[in-house]
Amino acid sequence: MRDMILLKQGEIVLKGLNKRTFEQKLLSNIRNRLKLIGDFNVYSVQSTVYVEPKTDDEDLDAAFEALKKVFGIAKLSRAAACEKDKDAIVALAKSYLADDMAAAKSFKVETKRSDKAFPMTSIEVSQYVGGELSEAFPHVPVDVRNPDLVVHVEIRDYAAYVHAQPTPGAGGMPVGSNGRAITMLSGGIDSPVSTYMIAKRGVKLIPVHFFSFPYTSELAKQKVIELAQILTDYCGTMMIEIVPFTKIQEEIRDKCPEEYFTLIMRRFMMRIATKIAEANGCKAIVTGENLGQVASQTMEAMASTQSVTYLPTLQPLIGMDKEEIVTIARKIGTFSTSILPYEDCCTVFTPRHPKTKPTIAEVEEVEKALDVEALVNEAVANIERVKVKLGE
Ligand code: ATP
Ligand code: MG
Repeated sequence: MRDMILLKQGEIVLKGLNKRTFEQKLLSNIRNRLKLIGDFNVYSVQSTVYVEPKTDDEDLDAAFEALKKVFGIAKLSRAAACEKDKDAIVALAKSYLADDMAAAKSFKVETKRSDKAFPMTSIEVSQYVGGELSEAFPHVPVDVRNPDLVVHVEIRDYAAYVHAQPTPGAGGMPVGSNGRAITMLSGGIDSPVSTYMIAKRGVKLIPVHFFSFPYTSELAKQKVIELAQILTDYCGTMMIEIVPFTKIQEEIRDKCPEEYFTLIMRRFMMRIATKIAEANGCKAIVTGENLGQVASQTMEAMASTQSVTYLPTLQPLIGMDKEEIVTIARKIGTFSTSILPYEDCCTVFTPRHPKTKPTIAEVEEVEKALDVEALVNEAVANIERVKVKLGE
């Protein structure tokens, strides 16, 4: 008899007709994750996903930790197994849930019985186990309406299981259930967080990074690869598109007024991101922009950036405070890498007095000095691709 993990599906249970597709995606994401840890049976019954180790050697703790990062799971519980006998169930509940019971203000027992040959009904099991637990923990009253702790008993084909307080899961929707998008990934604090947030909505992401060697170093590139690697825990395996950006930046520096430098550079980023999106079936561009944070993140500046693409730009951080963003960065484990001191291409040739309220017409006028199409095509033709794999 082996312990197992029970997963409660999140929002996908609301999805009506699409439910089946969402659930299949979730199951395949879970299986991909667990493949790296060991041999597990994964299947779902009525919005609960069962994860059963196939041998005694599987590392259930590692599986539990990994599953906490899978989007589409609302809650996780680890269930302890015992023989299908009412007193074995009581003994297990007393020992396995001793801490939970000691801390509870009230409790009730809920039983699910998928083995219909078991000699007691669900209600009888709940009453029996509840009575025995009451005797063992006399300070914890039974409260069937609003219990502080619900003790779950499941009688299944090969064993009975006991579990109680679930752990919160990653929430969101299974990655891949909501299409694909480009995510613009710099080495900063913000864009790994925006990537995480859109992955959480079930979107499969392709990170795009603009790289200005030798103005930005090889280490700056490694940093971005490392950030993407950390994000695979949430996003799954990804292919990063690294775009050579040096020539474009030099052209802008040489041919455009300094105050427009950042604005025009960002328009190039969007154009290139759009081309990569088209080649990969992506339907949006995700950025870590945050209203008012820097000169290029005023509404006027964003209008000029966004006017070069017909794709929606998704900016999940737009209304957040830096503190809130940092809290998420720490939680997902990207913060300490993000603060490594390597320059980003955005800080190369930064204007001393950037234009904060440009009109689109004036930016277009300034841009006429450049052969936009040729520069975009050349950069796209020289993209380098780096794969970051889940579990490496
Ligand atoms: P971050 O912390 O994500 O770098 P930021 O606050 O520094 O963001 P900007 O430098 O203005 O803001 O960049 C805004 C957004 O543009 C970033 O969040 C990111 O999505 C994208 N971006 C900036 N630089 C790059 C780059 N070198 N490669 C890819 N995307 C970039
Ligand atoms: Mg930045």
